[in-house]
Amino acid sequence: MNHNQNVKSILETVFGYSEFRGDQEAIINHVINGQDGLVIMPTGGGKSLCYQIPALVRPGIALVVSPLIALMEDQVTALKQLGVPAAFLNSSLDPLEKKRLFHSINQSEITLLYLAPERLMQPSTLTWLKSLSLSLIAIDEAHCVSQWGHDFRSDYLALGALKSHFPSVPRIALTATATPETQQEIINNLELNSPFHYVSSFDRSNIHYSVQPRKNAKKQLLEFLNNRKEQSGVIYCLSRNKVEKTAAWLQSEGFNALPYHAGLDKEVRSHHLSQFLRQDVIMVATIAFGMGIDKPDVRFVCHLDLPKSTEAYYQETGRAGRDGESADAWMVYGLNDVVQLTQMVDNSELSPERKTQERIKLNALLGWCEGTECRRKTLLAYFGEVREDSCGNCDTCSTPAPTWDATIAGQKLLSCILRTGQRFGATYVIDVLVGSTNQRIIDNGHHLISTYGIGKEYSISKWRSILRQLIVKQQVHVNSDAFGALSLSPKAKPLLRSEAKLLLREDLVEKNIEIRKKPGGTSVSPTDRKLWELLRECRSAIALELEIPAYQIFHDATLMEMMEHKPLNRDQLLLINGVGEKKFERYGMQFLNVLITHNNATKS
Ligand code: ADP
Ligand code: ZN
Repeated sequence: MNHNQNVKSILETVFGYSEFRGDQEAIINHVINGQDGLVIMPTGGGKSLCYQIPALVRPGIALVVSPLIALMEDQVTALKQLGVPAAFLNSSLDPLEKKRLFHSINQSEITLLYLAPERLMQPSTLTWLKSLSLSLIAIDEAHCVSQWGHDFRSDYLALGALKSHFPSVPRIALTATATPETQQEIINNLELNSPFHYVSSFDRSNIHYSVQPRKNAKKQLLEFLNNRKEQSGVIYCLSRNKVEKTAAWLQSEGFNALPYHAGLDKEVRSHHLSQFLRQDVIMVATIAFGMGIDKPDVRFVCHLDLPKSTEAYYQETGRAGRDGESADAWMVYGLNDVVQLTQMVDNSELSPERKTQERIKLNALLGWCEGTECRRKTLLAYFGEVREDSCGNCDTCSTPAPTWDATIAGQKLLSCILRTGQRFGATYVIDVLVGSTNQRIIDNGHHLISTYGIGKEYSISKWRSILRQLIVKQQVHVNSDAFGALSLSPKAKPLLRSEAKLLLREDLVEKNIEIRKKPGGTSVSPTDRKLWELLRECRSAIALELEIPAYQIFHDATLMEMMEHKPLNRDQLLLINGVGEKKFERYGMQFLNVLITHNNATKS
């Protein structure tokens, strides 16, 4: 029997499938021939077969590197059911089990061995493995090896040494989510030898995408869940607390909802998981839930909070509709999420450079949310996949977003980036636009250039949102090494020359504002409400910028007073409770700008 027949008959007899999917067959043949390679395939695309079949064809034992115990156990159980001798080596084994396993391996009774990177790279493990014959090494979730990836793990970086330890063993790296930069970094860090490189389309055409600004999240969610009572789905929240509250609330609304997060008892978690796997349940969860869960009929994945990157969003929503039937990815988001996520990045152990990258990723996702074009088209573009037509299966395709013409605003922003020499980050450029008296601007002489103060008509957070769109449209490039310096790409030319328009969404993030009644019960007028929103917007933009909680800038009570007394100069502002000299120095001008602009607008 030649290879091809052999491979095909394994597919049929062992796995019970009649046809290969996509590039599976080509990939399998490369690996059988001993080549290194990189495989990018969406979740549910069938990555496992790409190394499982070669493992059955090539002599020796195949190593599968996988980051999670749950994931390994899943795969091993499934393989055993197919009659494939597979095992995992991890801390869950007791000494006797371990002894038996080593024995079977030494007797060549095991075809696939799953293990975590740190276990594999232990000197004792490496020495032992060198005494065996290896058929191949598969590195699953390979994006973990990339600093650019969304889930970097230092244990993965050590895997580069596999090349020198096992020079003649083919290594195949696989992942569902990797931008072109990440792909290149995987190849470099793993030192793959003239690798074959397959990138399947990222498109999950059966998933309908919908993203809305958060107004009343509960109401919005109930509207979405209407008619979905009998379905299985996942609702992601950022915090454990929110998971519990949301699950309890959904139960009270008559839904079969269960909470899941790492803080729950192990028994409770596995009980909820098995209910979810067996019946139609809505799992309300933190992102601790989902990796390695292969439930084909998840009909929807909701996000009540913004994920931390487009990669994370894509991976999490990718858990919907693995059976190919239509499914929904639904999200509400608000700027508060961004503040919270930025704080998480800031408080993390990451290097300053990595923190900048995380912020760029977060902004890219926010920019995607705020976009007006087909969701699928822009999502695929992020992963380097060009698609000309709109999909017809997303919210912006079915209901075009109301837009406003931001052409002039876009031009102002682009020329301000140019005039300041394409050396500065977002905060600085926007400060110049709104005419801030920041000392650095004066020192650089940028208060004398023509774009200084030409953007006073919008708040800082509005400018940030305009900038995000220019970044999403790849007209502006953010340099991830140099403190996020902005520069123009050739794609900015048409807008600069007025040959193209810039249309932006009108319904951008509205904050969830609960204005407290003033003492005496008088209600707040619509123009005051507007001012309140603008003041809050200004505060969150600064908080976002400085990565501190908003209340550390000014308490709500202070903004309330500003709204009531409408100070228009330094002395008046200093009279407001909570505005001292230091705070005035730091933030005063930005709030005065808002107050003055609002005052002028209501007069005219
Ligand atoms: P991934 O690891 O890419 O997320 P899996 O390897 O777990 O995906 O495969 C997803 C599902 O598709 C599994 O249930 C798998 O058995 C099935 N599958 C894989 N290849 C084929 C094929 N050629 N024909 C039919 N089903 C397949
Ligand atoms: Zn679309």
